[in-house]
Amino acid sequence: MSATETAIASADAHSAHNYHPLPVVVASAEGAWMTDVEGRRYLDLLAGYSALNFGHGNRRLIDAARAQLERVTLTSRAFHHDRFADFCTELAALCSMEMVLPMNTGAEAVETAVKTARKWGYRVKGVPDGMAKIIVASDNFHGRTTTIISFSTDPEARADYGPYTPGFEIVPYGDLTALREAMTENTVAVLIEPIQGEAGVLVPPAGYLPGVRELTRERNVLFIADEIQSGLGRTGKTFALEHEGVVPDMYVLGKALGGGVVPVSAVVSSADILGVFKPGEHGSTFGGNPLACAVALEVIAMLRTGEYQERAAELGDHLHRELGLLTGGGAVETVRGRGLWAGVDIAPALGTGREISERLMEERVLVKDTHGSTIRIAPPLVISKEDLDWGLDRLRTVLSA
Ligand SMILES: *Cc1c(COP(=O)(O)O)cnc(C)c1O
Repeated sequence: MSATETAIASADAHSAHNYHPLPVVVASAEGAWMTDVEGRRYLDLLAGYSALNFGHGNRRLIDAARAQLERVTLTSRAFHHDRFADFCTELAALCSMEMVLPMNTGAEAVETAVKTARKWGYRVKGVPDGMAKIIVASDNFHGRTTTIISFSTDPEARADYGPYTPGFEIVPYGDLTALREAMTENTVAVLIEPIQGEAGVLVPPAGYLPGVRELTRERNVLFIADEIQSGLGRTGKTFALEHEGVVPDMYVLGKALGGGVVPVSAVVSSADILGVFKPGEHGSTFGGNPLACAVALEVIAMLRTGEYQERAAELGDHLHRELGLLTGGGAVETVRGRGLWAGVDIAPALGTGREISERLMEERVLVKDTHGSTIRIAPPLVISKEDLDWGLDRLRTVLSA
């Protein structure tokens, strides 16, 4: 057996089969490239679902992590540490908000947003105890905890995990009328992704997000933007909502915030909203740890230059122009997305998204399918134009075969 086959057989035997990875075993990576255990190089057009916006082994991030590793890595929030204040101040400033509540994974940050909205509903809005409702969108992806999958519409994510957490209302994504009709006095928040990543990089109709902003403001309901995947440069702006000139009440961030080095997530909001928490009412042993703060501070400094957003916008225009050309030929049905982020619906006759991904892997390009015949393209924002063009050439080869 090859080194690849041996590694996969052993993973299959000893790990739960809750994923179905492509049969490639990565041993090292740099920038937009990964090298497998047999020395083959692959172009990474997934970037860890946007956790690797700054590329693999980014020098600034690795240096920041290494320096912090030598000083102090974990204190727990029982004590202050000397990177915490800077992290919160800088992240709040990046978001033009006032307060930060750090967690680790995206799902934990979404859970934190849910708890914040409910507490705000009872303490500030005056919703009767136990009655708070949060409105979410169909085809959402917000994580994998029991509460979060309770409001998923994906049977794979949800089946067999009941009883489900009550208090959520699901309305069709992009439908303002449905959202207006679902709102009651007990609605405390609307939680949505400004672009739905896992659903296939779905961009809502123009005017939807400003409409959500207007409605939520009118009804004294919090607008919670899950920008875990869409945020931090991916779409060509720091936040996807900026394209619509919309400012939410709360950002939920994760993925790229940890620079592909450590998991770092956070809820970022105003003082009247995050101010609802008192000591002991919420927390995390690892949330806001020194190593996480050091890496995230470097991520924030990099984003403050604006150069990654600019790259994503420029290369994104190029990507969408090139993918657009493919839609004429019949191999590609639709292309959606913004910036360096695209959902590509392949003509089903050419194969499932999985099959296309496997063929691309043979051409040394790594992507991930979503549902049906859709593949998603989300390269690290540091990818060169030449490498991106090379990847697009490989895609054309696979689609014309
Ligand atoms: C990935 C993701 C999450 C969950 O993040 P985890 O770190 O995997 O828990 C939540 N929301 C969105 C939009 C995501 O893309």
